[in-house]
Amino acid sequence: MPQAPYAELSPSPRLLLGPGPSNVHPRVLRALGKPLLGYLDPEFLAILDEIGAMLRAVYGLDGGLALPISGTGGAGMEAALANLLEPGDTAVIGVNGFFGERLALIAARQGASVVTVNAEWGRVLDPEAFRESLRRQDRVKLVAVVHAETSTGVLQPLRELAAIAHEREALLLVDAVTSLGGSPVSMNETGIDFAYSATQKCLGAPPGLSPIALSERALEALAQRRQPPATWYLDLALLRQYWEGPNRVYHHTPPVPLLYALHEALRLVLEEGLEARFARHQRHGRALRAGLEALGLRLLVPESYCTPQLTAVLVPEGLDEAALRGALREEHNIEIGGGLGQLRGRVWRIGLMGESSTAANVLVLLAALEALLPRFGFEVPHGAGVSAASRELGRR
Ligand SMILES: *Cc1c(COP(=O)(O)O)cnc(C)c1O
Repeated sequence: MPQAPYAELSPSPRLLLGPGPSNVHPRVLRALGKPLLGYLDPEFLAILDEIGAMLRAVYGLDGGLALPISGTGGAGMEAALANLLEPGDTAVIGVNGFFGERLALIAARQGASVVTVNAEWGRVLDPEAFRESLRRQDRVKLVAVVHAETSTGVLQPLRELAAIAHEREALLLVDAVTSLGGSPVSMNETGIDFAYSATQKCLGAPPGLSPIALSERALEALAQRRQPPATWYLDLALLRQYWEGPNRVYHHTPPVPLLYALHEALRLVLEEGLEARFARHQRHGRALRAGLEALGLRLLVPESYCTPQLTAVLVPEGLDEAALRGALREEHNIEIGGGLGQLRGRVWRIGLMGESSTAANVLVLLAALEALLPRFGFEVPHGAGVSAASRELGRR
């Protein structure tokens, strides 16, 4: 028999503790291997309906529209901005990290006039600055912020921002890529009009889908567009004709196995329960931070607004941060992330997202860091990280 020129893949079973992807449950991996169905098969359409219903539950959305966009989180971001904005509209965008910058960049590509409200990376955005910015504009179509800024680990409070946007009849768009499934998003209760996420962070599915959700108010805004969006692939008016209603109109072939995986991941989220899941992320985030500080490391974000699913750690002066990440990967089989944008080389980003957020993972990582840091010139107190984290885990 002729030999295939390349060997069958055997990727290492890494512990994924970076900014995403996170590890997935074996049930989710098994879902990927189930038999394919055609995109108009009634069995498949029933699966799509269940995914829509589960997404509404996870987003805390009544009415409106929820569906997964084919593509990663960036596709959801682009779908949101391309559908909500028209040339000449004004958007006020919060920028306190890499993904806020990306929101502003993509909004400008829609021909919108973009006004940014800025804060230092690692600090929270001030609602009063939004109020002031909105006061200075004639008519603002959209206010947009990142909920959990994965470049820094800041969790942005949203309620007051929603009230400020709605006072001026603007819509609130929220990047929930890292928050959904790990921290409360509660669209209706919070007053969010459009949110997008990604499957590979706290939802516990592989990358490749971007679940989005729209309030009734956002749907009305889409209906009032003067012209269709320049993007055809991400045009929500067209996508909706396939995802909803009795006459499913072909738009594009959906990535069937990824949708199976998302279905199973959402079942796992709802089996655990949203409140229990948020508490789990909180508990493990707290334990990690306690352990890192006990090792003598400093964190970028103050405790009062840090997000539990991503912790940015300041790299000690003079330490070769990329080499340490390499050693973690090669010797301990653990992935963590480096810094993005202006924090490149200055922080490590440790993710505890979805299935990856476990007590065992916190302890394994702290033990590995304790073993490696001295070799990179940073002395650590023996056993301090693991015992501080254990104490925190034991607290009720
Ligand atoms: C990961 C991430 C994105 C981009 O998602 P991709 O799946 O990489 O396209 C956008 N926003 C935030 C906050 C993220 O963490």
